[in-house]
Amino acid sequence: MTLGFDSHCHLHFHHFNEDLDAVVTDSGKAGISHIMIPSIDVETAERSADIAEKYNLFSAAAFHPEHLPEESIGEAEWLAIKHVLLRPNTVAVGETGLDYHHGTFEPAKQIRWFHRHIELAESIGYPLIVHSRGAESEVLNQLPSSLSVPVILHCWGGDESLTDIAVARGFYIGVDGPLTYKKSNKLRGLIPRIPRDRLLVETDSPFLPPEPFRGRRNQPAFTGFIIMKIRELWGDNMSIENTSYILWENAMRAYRLHPGNRRADIVYRYGDSLYVNLTSRCQNNCGFCIRKSADGIAGYSLRHREDPSKSLVLSTIEAFPIEGFKELVFCGFGEPTLRTDLLMTSATAAGARGVKTRLNTNGLCTSFLSDRQVVTLLRCFDSVNISLNASGAREYNRVCPSTVEDPWEHLMKFIKLVKTTCIRARVSVVKNSGADMHRVTALAERLQMPLRIR
Ligand code: SF4
Repeated sequence: MTLGFDSHCHLHFHHFNEDLDAVVTDSGKAGISHIMIPSIDVETAERSADIAEKYNLFSAAAFHPEHLPEESIGEAEWLAIKHVLLRPNTVAVGETGLDYHHGTFEPAKQIRWFHRHIELAESIGYPLIVHSRGAESEVLNQLPSSLSVPVILHCWGGDESLTDIAVARGFYIGVDGPLTYKKSNKLRGLIPRIPRDRLLVETDSPFLPPEPFRGRRNQPAFTGFIIMKIRELWGDNMSIENTSYILWENAMRAYRLHPGNRRADIVYRYGDSLYVNLTSRCQNNCGFCIRKSADGIAGYSLRHREDPSKSLVLSTIEAFPIEGFKELVFCGFGEPTLRTDLLMTSATAAGARGVKTRLNTNGLCTSFLSDRQVVTLLRCFDSVNISLNASGAREYNRVCPSTVEDPWEHLMKFIKLVKTTCIRARVSVVKNSGADMHRVTALAERLQMPLRIR
């Protein structure tokens, strides 16, 4: 299968309303397997997210510097952008930046909003897509010297010295259809200055069609014509497929989708609640565990390659509008109590914002916490869901093999401690886990705990 990535394509614009299905199908036929759809305001961010989810593509949310909100509704719209960033296929903040060419808004306002986007991207760990027109030097000045997220300089128009600075700072540089235009010698002259692992190909559809499509609506299926020009400028005998693959890999890294640097979602939406994913580690290896067959749920990527840092978890929870949801559930793609300190700090911070919090746990934390610590932990939450999944020690060992010694004893001890607090609690069992459901139901009754069958 051919791999190709149109790293910047506005499929949300009305130009695609009539034939979006065909445009996406044609791009696949042309070898463009991945598309990033950046947006320019709340409405297009929502539309981009819809398209990305429908066609299994990716989207980004932000205010374009030509489409900044009025001051009076700025905060409400900013909140709406954050809501879109919680959607499963929305994986970047963009496009933001500066546009001094059209100059719709005064520079001070543009710079203020540019910084809000930069701070948001950093606080939630999302890549940043930057627009710069007539403001390439100013964009580089405004980007902080050390950034923890990838920066994509889309449709780059800087000169040689600015390109050298951007390259030295490790930014990704996107080139578009004009690379194929007869008069674009300056742009073509930049290609040898950009390391091959930093170059991105993009169409910026429906704009900037490459030769031989000038004057027509651009579309992702035309990406190959820009790739062919890049291959020619690289000047070796690499096949078009290999050139496309290198550029695809670059975009996968830039957007943190590559297996080598894949970003896992820390906060994700499921039903009317938000979930917090602190770790992919667990002491158990339950036969029914979702982690055995998938890297996430509901379109979210949840398998952390390594635990996210405390500061990233806290800043992510702080940045997102958690107040609008029924509850904040700490469950993870693993066992959240393995990060006890962070769990308590995050739940307390959410509680201070008036948000209901729930802990989903395997109940084995008594194996590494004192009774007192367990009770202190529980007091950070409004409710707790405990995975029971068995009616006794033998069955538990079969259904939920554990590295914890005597896990059933620890689970029963945890349930006893829960009952000493006034926290709302229930136990749960997975329907097809292989546990004896009658006996599990009877045990829940004896424990006087509500049972949820999942
Ligand atoms: S306790 Fe939960 S996370 Fe751990 S293996 Fe079992 S199902 Fe998976």
